Order: sequence, then structure tokens, then C-alpha cells
Amino acid sequence: MVGVVVRSGREDVDQAVKAAHRAYELWRLTPAPRRGEILFKAAEILSRNKESLGRLETREMGKVLSEGLGDVQEAIDMGYYMAGEGRRLSGETVPSELPDKDMKSLRVPVGVFGLITPWNFPIAIPSWKVFPALICGNTVVLKPSSDTPVCATKFVEILVEAGLPKGVLNLVHGPGGEVGEYLASHPGVDAISFTGSFDTGKRLEGICGAIHRMIVTEMGGKNAIIVMDDANLDLAVEGAIWGGFGTTGQRCTAASRVVVHRKIYQKFIEKFRKRASRLKLGDGLQKETDVGPVINETQFNKILRYVEVGKKEGAKLILGGKACQKGNCAEGYFIEPTIFVNVTPEMRIAQEEIFGPVVSVIKAENLGDAIRIVNRTPYGLSSAIYTQDVNSSAVAERDLETGIVYINASTIGAEIQLPFGGIKHSGYGRKEAGGRGGALDTYSRWKVIYRDFSGRLQKAQIDK
Ligand code: NAD
Repeated sequence: MVGVVVRSGREDVDQAVKAAHRAYELWRLTPAPRRGEILFKAAEILSRNKESLGRLETREMGKVLSEGLGDVQEAIDMGYYMAGEGRRLSGETVPSELPDKDMKSLRVPVGVFGLITPWNFPIAIPSWKVFPALICGNTVVLKPSSDTPVCATKFVEILVEAGLPKGVLNLVHGPGGEVGEYLASHPGVDAISFTGSFDTGKRLEGICGAIHRMIVTEMGGKNAIIVMDDANLDLAVEGAIWGGFGTTGQRCTAASRVVVHRKIYQKFIEKFRKRASRLKLGDGLQKETDVGPVINETQFNKILRYVEVGKKEGAKLILGGKACQKGNCAEGYFIEPTIFVNVTPEMRIAQEEIFGPVVSVIKAENLGDAIRIVNRTPYGLSSAIYTQDVNSSAVAERDLETGIVYINASTIGAEIQLPFGGIKHSGYGRKEAGGRGGALDTYSRWKVIYRDFSGRLQKAQIDK
């Protein structure tokens, strides 16, 4: 057993929101550098506990240990980064048109933030939201996925240990449809930040829209890698392997489509299939394991249903497509790395997010065709191109309609010092992580101050 958590009810959400409200006045008036010191301490504690937290992720969620450790590292990085922002939460001072007058913009907190997070990055994603929300002076009610409540609980405990005052960060657990939805529509909440599937995000956008509540949504993806005929093929194959099957294909940025130039299509497929067939499934705590299980029975069944959809649509299955029965895998939700070829862009397996170890390989005539194929889905999170041609990479960089574009690297591996997020059904834009236009813009609002110290009515301003 990994752990036991409470199943929160509406009364718990009421109490959490109340506590967040009570703590808000104190927290918003705590100088941002002081807030940053607590975040810095939290990053230190996370760092000291990295190994045990990484193991906990593997045990609770199933990702292999190296990925669990990577997830914790992201939270550490985010903690240090946002701690530093406590000394940089700057606005602008600009010259006035009038004498004896000054003007500035300030970042101020939004209020009580409800944060709703998924299971696939069970510490990193809460950290992406909690750290920037706190540094900006908000108080928080966090509702993590009920598939990974223990990781989230440990994360919150670490912030408390770092010295966070009571009520600043509150945790509720429970099913999204009950606890999450109640939190999103709670009258005491000022804003919602959600990461999860498009269907849930769209529903929450509707709820929040109806009550004029700010909501930020980061949702699914149908990410693609383009492999051009001049690509370093070995590198492209490695990119497709880890993009497609890393984290068992359960990343929002997973490369579930590979769009390959017709001249190297066959060659790529052969290499890709051979490499994928060597991936080792099993317990993520074992060193030799490459791919862990999928998260739960619902996902397991959904992925296998998509395999049937692909076959019916006429795609050719060249690897996997079934549950793994080898060794201990038979006891868990393991699905073999699955590759479909002869996939056409309009097929459901090339359009819909499967969120499992299933990759569709699609043939393209040329660069323009490849870019059109990549862009032709409702999603727009991450894309990649493998090419040695500087002009092709420039065209791809300009024309790929995704929030993130990788050149000669897979669709995964974002760094926290730049904004993270997608467009279309993947989200509204860059709202998480750091950099200009990143998380600080999500978790703070602008207040503008004009001060006239002339002591007289400066009529020019009114006459203008
Ligand atoms: P999900 O939408 O099922 O759940 C996400 C969170 O929302 C969970 O905490 C869940 O309990 C809650 N929830 C569910 N229904 C709710 C409702 N009606 N009201 C309020 N809250 C509700 O998603 P998931 O299965 O946990 O995560 C996988 C999805 O998340 C994939 O689509 C993936 O692409 C996406 N994701 C996106 C990003 C990103 O940054 N764009 C990152 C990671 C995962």
C-alpha cells in the first residue's frame, strides 16, 4: 500500500476556502522576498527528499524511477525559480505626460486560487501552480488527482515544513466531479487553474464562464514529430521512442504521431519498430525497466479500445496492440508499445488523444504537407522536427501551430524558465512555468497607480 488519504466532502472544501480567505490578508501583505524565502526552503527540503519522493511517484503512479526523479527535480527547479521571483515581481514605472505626476503598474495577487491537477506529473504539476500562486501573494486550495493523492500530500507537507503560515495552502482530496467541481464553483474562490483533459477543462470553463470567474486551462495534446528525409535517422528514432513511449505515452506532450517524409518512410518504420520492440516493460523501480504500467483500469481499457479503432479504420498494426503478459506484467495494467503505420491524418487514432503507448506513423510528401498534417488536429501543444536543413527548421518554427516547437529534439522536455502551454484544445496559451508571459501573468493581476503631486488640478489631462 502506498498510503491512505481522506476523501474530502463539500464541508472540507468549505473549510479549506474559509481558511484560505482568513490567511489571505496576512499572506498578501507578507513582503514577496519573505514569501520567496519559504519557497526556497521548500525547494531545499524537496531536494533533500528527492530520492524518496521519486520512489513514491513510481509506486503511486507507475512511471519509471528516473522519470519520477525528473518530476521531483522539476518541482525543485520551480521552487528555486519562483523563490527568486520574490525579489523580482516588478511592474513598470513610465514617464507621465504632465509635470509633477508619476505612474506605475504593480503586480498584485488575485485572491484565493483553486488549483486542480492531473496524475501524470503528480508533484511537478502541483508545483507549477502552487509556487507561482504563492509567490504572487495568493492563498490556495489544491485538489490533486485522486489517482495520486499521496504525492500531492507529501508536497504540501513539505511546504508546511518550510514554514508556510496556516491556511495559506490547503489540500482537499476526492473525485473531480464532486470535490473538483464544487471547488471550481465555490463562491469564496477567486480564480481556478486547471490541468487535465480537454473534456474536463471545457466543462470547467463553462462553469467558470457562467459566474464570471477567471480560469486557466492546460489540457490535452496530439503532438507530432516530423522526420524529414535529411534527418539524422538514429536521433529521430530515439526521439520518437522516448516521445511516444516515455512515461508510457502518458504525457500531455507525448509524441503520439510521427509524420515521416515518404523517401525515408520504410527505413524509419523498420528502425522504429526494431527499437520499440526492445523496450522493457515492468516495475519502474527496477533499473532495467524502460516503460511502466498505465495509470488505472479505465485508461487501460480505453487504450485497448483505441487499438481496435485503429485496426477498424484500416491502419496497419506492426507492433504491440495488446496487454503485456510477460512476468509480473500480467498482474498490472501493462500495454505493449504499439505502433500503427499507414495511418492517414483524419483517422481517429491520429486525431484524438489516446494517452497511452500508441504511436501512429503517417507518411508526408514534403515539408509543407508534413506541417499541414501536424496542424490538422484540434490540439496544439507540442511539435518537433528532425532535419539537418536550416531553412526547413526555420519554416517549421514559423508554421507549426503549437505552443512549443522542438528542433532536432523530441516533443518532450520543457524547461521551467520559459512559459509552458498550448493553443486550441490544449489551452489558451503560455500560462505555466517561468519567463515573460508565464506563470506570473496567470497568478497575479496588474494594478495601475497614477499620483499627482502638483497640488493643483492639471487640466491638460482632462482636456486631452
Ligand atoms: P482529468 O481531466 O480526468 O482530471 C484532471 C483533474 O481534474 C483531476 O484532479 C480530476 O479529479 C479533476 N476533475 C475531473 N473531473 C472534474 C470535474 N467535473 N470538475 C472538476 N474537476 C474535475 O485528467 P487526468 O486523466 O487526470 O489527466 C490526463 C489529462 O491531463 C490528459 O488529457 C493530459 O494531456 C492532460 N495534461 C495536460 C497537461 C498540460 O500542461 N497541458 C499536463 C499534464 C496532463
